[in-house]
Amino acid sequence: MAARTDSLTKLFNRRHIIEKMEAEKKKIQNGGKAFSLILSDIDDFKKFNDNYGHDCGDFVLVLAADVMRSNVRKQDVISRWGGEEFLLLLPETEMSAAKSVAERILKGFSDNFYEYNHYRLKISMTFGISTYSPSDSIDSCIKMADESLYEGKKSGKNCIVLSAPV
Ligand code: GH3
Ligand code: MG
Ligand code: MG
Repeated sequence: MAARTDSLTKLFNRRHIIEKMEAEKKKIQNGGKAFSLILSDIDDFKKFNDNYGHDCGDFVLVLAADVMRSNVRKQDVISRWGGEEFLLLLPETEMSAAKSVAERILKGFSDNFYEYNHYRLKISMTFGISTYSPSDSIDSCIKMADESLYEGKKSGKNCIVLSAPV
């Protein structure tokens, strides 16, 4: 599984989730239900590295992975998409249900506190959500989630932004 997972967080990597999205796309072409994507990014992550060191940044990445993992179903796929950015694939899931998942993850962070070397860390994420439509490409679905994530960052972070259906 090493070629499919990220060694730090043990989440899947890009290659794996891209294959899974392609498999879901095929299912939809055969009459299956649409999937949703959640693209999430840790807010102000750089400050953990800058203020408390790179190991603290790594600690936050592992924590974020755990919080996400504990709030999704078995069939959902979570990947480390980039440095502190994660892509979640939720098969057979409408946008409103995907939104609930993102809300649960946000609540997971706000309900708990995390300590690192006696420092109390405050962690939050911003989320962009899109739902695949059969006339679209996977890339454009990812792009929609990315644009929503960017909107969320611009409007103050720690929030969930839904892509408008096209
Ligand atoms: P924003 O709220 O806008 O997302 O800001 P940010 O600080 O989270 O994002 P920015 O892109 O400015 O910084 C991300 C940093 O993540 C830069 C990079 O050095 C760090 N990073 C990437 N991968 C790793 C990793 O594996 N471990 C650690 N500790 N840091 C990492
Ligand atoms: Mg960030
Ligand atoms: Mg980022």
